[in-house]
Amino acid sequence: MTTTVYVLGSGTPEPTPERFGSAFAVDVDGEVLMVDCGPAATWKLVKAGLAPTQVGTLFFTHHHFDHDVDYPCFLLTRWDQGAGLVEPLHAIGPAPTSLLTERLVGPDGAFFADIHARVNWSGSQGIWAHRGGTLPRTPPRVRTTDIEAGHEHRGDSWSMRSALAIHAQPWLDSLSYRLETSDGSIVFTGDTEPCDSVRELARGADIMFSMCWNTNAAHTRYREGLCTLEGAVSMASDAGVGTLVLVHTGANVSNPQTVDAALLGMGDTYGGRVVLADELMHLTLSRGQLSVGPTAGLLRP
Ligand SMILES: [Zn+2]
Repeated sequence: MTTTVYVLGSGTPEPTPERFGSAFAVDVDGEVLMVDCGPAATWKLVKAGLAPTQVGTLFFTHHHFDHDVDYPCFLLTRWDQGAGLVEPLHAIGPAPTSLLTERLVGPDGAFFADIHARVNWSGSQGIWAHRGGTLPRTPPRVRTTDIEAGHEHRGDSWSMRSALAIHAQPWLDSLSYRLETSDGSIVFTGDTEPCDSVRELARGADIMFSMCWNTNAAHTRYREGLCTLEGAVSMASDAGVGTLVLVHTGANVSNPQTVDAALLGMGDTYGGRVVLADELMHLTLSRGQLSVGPTAGLLRP
């Protein structure tokens, strides 16, 4: 068995040529799930060699646009390409996951005109049938579950547990997740400030993908609800995480030299590995052994 995480989005709300938004795909021995669906996640998923129709479950950490703005693109592409031959997606996350879905692809949702046209126009019906679908063409079907901290969801060969992430409350509920497979355990912090609920969730994990907004030297006034490099390293150290992967990296932490210098400045705070993620990097766990490709983002082996 292998578990591979594809970093689809490793940036922030600020677009740069290298990074934009947050999204991950995870292939657990052929069963594919996603965590967040930020800008261009659908396109990056295909660039990673995966099809939207392969994804069965999508988890949201929270509903800031840098984590969910590609959701309508993903739903409509999956529906159009799936031709009624794949099971409905199960979208799971904090509220308003269900409401958002309904307002996007429900009967009165934002994309009603496109859906109405594709269901009823003979040209689109022909494409549907050509892809193997049976007529009449049906509108998108999505299963949704709004969850809170402490929820556990089980797939065939994995489980995903949620914990409180401290971010933009009370305006937005935010969650972190821990994925368990027979290959190991992987934590996605989502957006959070360093907090005990994430430390507890991450205890002993093989990998933790942590938000890393900036080093503490820069923009200290923006630290509330956010995690800096120092915060990510300290949480990884406290939780005994094997490998810390820096994602959601702001401009000051997108440069390996900057991160390396900052890590050196921290001394021996953390004994594990640190990886600065690039978009389309993948990390494969197989029976606790980690390999990273295709880029060399390893900073502290
Ligand atoms: Zn956020």
